Amino acid sequence: MVIGQAHGRDAMSARVAVVCGASMAGLLAARVLADAYDSVIVVERDLLPDGVSQRPGVPQGHHLHMLLSSGLRILERLFPGLIADLRAGGAPTLDTRDLSLTYVEVSGHVLCRTGALADPDAMLTALASRPLLESVVRERVRALCNVSFREGHDVIGPVLSGRAVSGVQVSERGTGRQCVLSADLVIDATGRSARTPAFLAAQGFDRPVEQTYRVQLSYASQLFRVPAGAMREKVAIISPTLQRPTGAGMLAYEDNTVIFTLIGVAGHRLPTDLTEIRSAAAELLPRHIHTVLEAAEPLGTLHNRQYPASVWRRYDKLASFPTGLLVIGDAVCSFNPVYGQGMTSAALQARALQKVLANTGITELRRPYFRAAAHEIAPIWRANRLNDFAATPTTGWATWPQRALDSYTRAYMAAASTDRALTETFLRVLQGLDSGAALVGPGRVARVIANARRRTQAQVA
Ligand SMILES: Cc1cc2nc3c(=O)[nH]c(=O)nc-3n(C[C@H](O)[C@H](O)[C@H](O)COP(=O)(O)OP(=O)(O)OC[C@H]3O[C@@H](n4cnc5c(N)ncnc54)[C@H](O)[C@@H]3O)c2cc1C
Repeated sequence: MVIGQAHGRDAMSARVAVVCGASMAGLLAARVLADAYDSVIVVERDLLPDGVSQRPGVPQGHHLHMLLSSGLRILERLFPGLIADLRAGGAPTLDTRDLSLTYVEVSGHVLCRTGALADPDAMLTALASRPLLESVVRERVRALCNVSFREGHDVIGPVLSGRAVSGVQVSERGTGRQCVLSADLVIDATGRSARTPAFLAAQGFDRPVEQTYRVQLSYASQLFRVPAGAMREKVAIISPTLQRPTGAGMLAYEDNTVIFTLIGVAGHRLPTDLTEIRSAAAELLPRHIHTVLEAAEPLGTLHNRQYPASVWRRYDKLASFPTGLLVIGDAVCSFNPVYGQGMTSAALQARALQKVLANTGITELRRPYFRAAAHEIAPIWRANRLNDFAATPTTGWATWPQRALDSYTRAYMAAASTDRALTETFLRVLQGLDSGAALVGPGRVARVIANARRRTQAQVA
C-alpha cells in the first residue's frame, strides 16, 4: 500500500487507484479497476459492517430498493455466482414464469397477472434488501487480492501535481489524523453530494454544468416481518398518476421481511406516523396484500425522505480536467429514485469504465470514460424526464402533450391488463432491458388500438 508523500513516484512503481466511497458505485469501480491496477484502495467514511446491516452513509437503504434485471445481469458478469450468493443470503428471486407473483398498477390498470411471459428468464430479479445486496457485493470486492479498504476515513480531496492527480488526502474520522494516499487514478464515488465540482473550482478548473430538474419526491418506508407464506405477491407497485399524487411499492426481501414505501410526487407530503401510513396503504394496495401488512410486525422505525431534484453533472462536456481523476455513480448523475435506476446506472458506468480500460489502457481514460458514461446515462435521463412529466401536473402549452401521453398510457395499460405481450413489453422497459420506444413501436400501437376498439364495441353491445 502506498501511503505518504504523493510526489516522486517513478515509472516502475506499482500502479495504484484510489476509489472514494464504498457504496455501490465505488464497489463496482473497485472491481473493474482491480483488473487494470496493481493495487486499489477504497476509502470510506463509514466503518463498514461485517454482515448485513444499514449504515449511516447510505440512508436510502431504509427505503424500497430494487436492482433492475439489466443491472443484475451486469453484476452477475462482474461477480459470477452473485445471484446464487443473494439466494443463499435469503433474497427471493423472481422470474416471470408466474405473473401472479407481481402486482403492477399503472394509470389505474393492473398488468396481466396470469400465465408466463414468452421470455421469462430475461427478467430475473433478486429481491435483496439494499444492505444485503451491498454486503454481498462488498464481500466479493473484499475477496479480490489487490483491493484494500480504508474505512472510517473522510476523503478531503484529490492532491494535484501540476494538472495531474498524484493522490488523495484523507482524514481518519476518530483522530482527525490526515495523510495522502499516493495514486495514479482517483475516482470519486461519494454520491450525490460529491465535492469534485468544488475541488475543480478551487483549483482553477471549470465546474461541470449541472442539468437539473425538480422532482419533489417524498418517500415514507416501513420494514415489516410477515409470517412465511402469508403473501403470494413478491412485488406490488402502484404508480402515482396525474390525478393522484401518491403511489406505493412493496417488495418481499430476505428473512420474511417486506418493505412498504409510500411515494408522494409533485411536492405531496406524506404522513410521518405508522398508523396514517397504514391507512394510506389500505387505500392503495389490493385488500389481500394490505390485510397481511396490517397484521405484520413492524421492524425498526418509519423512515421519511425527500428527494428534491434529479441532477446530471456534465463532466463529459468539460474542456479541461485534471489527468487521473474520474467520477462515477450518483456523483455524476442522480435520478429520481422512483424508477429504481441508480444502481443500474452505477453498473452501466462501471461497465463503460471496464470497456475503456480494455480498449485504451490506463493512460488516457478521462475523455473516453466520461463520453462512454454519458452515453449510458443519456437514455435513462430522457426516460426519467418523460415519466416525471407524465406524472407531474403542469400548466400552459405543456398540458397538451401531457394529456396525449396520459391517454396513450391509459389505453396501453388497459390493453396490457389482458394482453400478455403488452405486459411483457412494459416489464422489459421497466427492468431496463428495452428502451421506452418499444412501448410505441408499430406492433404495440396496433395492439393498443385494437384493444381499445374491442372495449368500445363491448360497451356499446
Ligand atoms: C430514497 C432512494 C431510493 C432509491 N431506490 C433505488 C432503487 O430502488 N434502485 C436503484 O437502483 N437505486 C435506487 N436508489 C439510488 C441508489 O441508492 C444509488 O444510485 C446507489 O447507491 C449508487 O450510488 P453511489 O454509490 O454513487 O452513491 P451513494 O450510495 O450515495 O454512496 C456514497 C458513498 O460515499 C461515502 N462517502 C460520501 N462522502 C465521503 C467522503 N467525503 N469520504 C469518504 N466516503 C464518503 C458514503 O458514506 C457512501 O458510502 C435510491 C436512492 C434513494 C435516495
